[in-house]
Amino acid sequence: MTYDYDLIVIGAGSGGVRAARISAGYGAKVAVIEGDRPGGTCVIRGCVPKKLLMYGAAFSADAEDARRFGWIVGVKEHNWSNLIAAKNSELVRLEGIYRSLLKNAGAELIEGFATVTGTNHIIVNDQELTAERILIAVGAAPQLLDTPGMAEHAITSNEALDLETFPEEIVIYGSGYIALEFAGIFNGFGAKTHLVYRSDLPLRGFDSDIRSEIATALEGRGVILHPEKTISAIEGNGDKKHISLSDGTVITASQVMAATGRSPNTAGLGLAETGVAMGGRGEVIVDENACTSVTSIYAVGDVTDRINLTPVAIAEGHAFADKIYGGINRIASHDNVASAVFSQPPIACIGLNEHEARAKYAGITVFESRFRAMKNTISGRAEKSYMKLVVETASDRVVGVHMMGSDSGEIMQGIAIAVKMGATKADFDATIGIHPTAAEEFVTMRSPRL
Ligand code: NDP
Repeated sequence: MTYDYDLIVIGAGSGGVRAARISAGYGAKVAVIEGDRPGGTCVIRGCVPKKLLMYGAAFSADAEDARRFGWIVGVKEHNWSNLIAAKNSELVRLEGIYRSLLKNAGAELIEGFATVTGTNHIIVNDQELTAERILIAVGAAPQLLDTPGMAEHAITSNEALDLETFPEEIVIYGSGYIALEFAGIFNGFGAKTHLVYRSDLPLRGFDSDIRSEIATALEGRGVILHPEKTISAIEGNGDKKHISLSDGTVITASQVMAATGRSPNTAGLGLAETGVAMGGRGEVIVDENACTSVTSIYAVGDVTDRINLTPVAIAEGHAFADKIYGGINRIASHDNVASAVFSQPPIACIGLNEHEARAKYAGITVFESRFRAMKNTISGRAEKSYMKLVVETASDRVVGVHMMGSDSGEIMQGIAIAVKMGATKADFDATIGIHPTAAEEFVTMRSPRL
């Protein structure tokens, strides 16, 4: 049987582009199909634009802090449209880079939405194409709850990154990664920002001390928290939206943003009809080699709904290409994946939280440090930083590291190498700190928490 291509990748996001480039580099004939802009969620409507806005938002706190360092800070004004325009031109540049990456690797980019019509067949732009293998890398999209008024009145992270007018007051629903990151952005630019969430503390699944520390820090920065509440209805009236909460409170705000999770982008893709096993949330079920229940169809990234992080999708796409076209038998490891929440202040972690470690090991020892960063002493900012090491007592191995505070994402990347290598607490202790830094706390925690 001959096919048009060795590999058709559906989705030119982080995972799909990496798989396509590496596969083409090994000599495979590759087509990549994309219905939107190449770059995918991370580059076009996720990590990159979010972080650019986050950098912008952080200047307001920096300007406040600057006063006590002797700066005479004038009236703070921000021009939202200028920022959105600057962000958009950066995205155009990055999209161009993604297009060139594919072209230079010899992979063909086909613009259009694909439907899978058979184990080796797809249709795009009314044309049928065949491939020996198909890789699904279509990612996920924001999911809206069926609360009355939500679909009509709520924006998601997609629209929040492109608002024409900056909202004076915004209600953000949820307390996961996206909710906290956008709370930092809107609050930083001066919007009165509410965070409504159903749990007692933000960031379910994170270490419980980090969760309470971030709640305190968010309140300290002026975010209005509404824990243990849900939104029961939203009514709109021009640019005023009335958001009713489960306790009867009604907030009137100019925007409401839903950050209540994301769902795999598989609706209408034709996968189930082709015999691909799917989970209840529409996710594609894969084995450790990214293979689905149909042996010619593979999937990587958020569409598989496992660890929904860009670098994980890239690792999965690369491992797929290495194994199938490079003859290198390897899998993408899902163990000890570090991540950061770019809230303000940011959070980062790797490994087990204290609760998970207690359930897994007979004995654990916890070391922690809560301190006012040196910069905050002069600036007068009361905010504390928090760091925690979770150690398996018997082996002395560090099995979890958690931080809330400036640069925690940058700091955790280095710590992640040590944890991935199986570092012990004694290894941390034997490391001499860099002084004066916040990160040195990780190698100077002497006494366990009682
Ligand atoms: P999350 O799963 O992190 O958070 C979803 C939020 O929605 C939670 O607070 C959850 O509440 C709430 N929620 C879900 N269903 C309901 C419901 N029926 N009623 C009320 N509240 C509800 O999703 P996000 O959309 O924030 O992010 C999606 C994924 O994208 C993340 O998990 C992460 O993997 C990735 N991401 C990573 C980033 C990074 O690396 N910095 C940045 C952004 C996204 P509860 O906690 O109570 O379940």
